[in-house]
Amino acid sequence: MLNKKVEEALNAQINAEMWSAYLYLSMSAWCAADGKPGMANWFEVQFQEEQDHARILFNYVIQRGGRVTLRPIEAVPTEWKSALDVMESTLAHEQKVTALINDLFALSTAENDYATQSMLKWFIDEQVEEEENAQNLIDSLRMLGDGSGYGLYMLDKELAARSYTQASPLAKA
Ligand code: MG
Repeated sequence: MLNKKVEEALNAQINAEMWSAYLYLSMSAWCAADGKPGMANWFEVQFQEEQDHARILFNYVIQRGGRVTLRPIEAVPTEWKSALDVMESTLAHEQKVTALINDLFALSTAENDYATQSMLKWFIDEQVEEEENAQNLIDSLRMLGDGSGYGLYMLDKELAARSYTQASPLAKA
């Protein structure tokens, strides 16, 4: 049975992951409107991955005999200044999510909830990847600098090739 404090924190995290999904869908829309279909695709994959994150937590709360309570998803930003601005916002957002996951882990440690700590280990590793991916794209965009139409075109082509794979904890279920 899930401890009430941990259950509440997991429900808040489900909402945070759904907000992330909505944020990335909004970024995908902005990139598409800005004429960057590859980046739009990259964010659409992010959108799918964030829904997976919410579902992993959703399934876990149920598995532990807890109660999932879905809450409203707050509005997300809809405008960015440039491709670099979108990627910098992505990194800043993922850093916030990492802090949320760390807080969840600290809470489950304080509450002696070992199963939740074990489940969260996947998220801790995932956040390392999320931050690295965003940082790599920021680095690429900075290398291209302003006005490199050809470079940006090639990068956008590369991002068009990204495809979604279901998160491993869901594949096991
Ligand atoms: Mg996430």
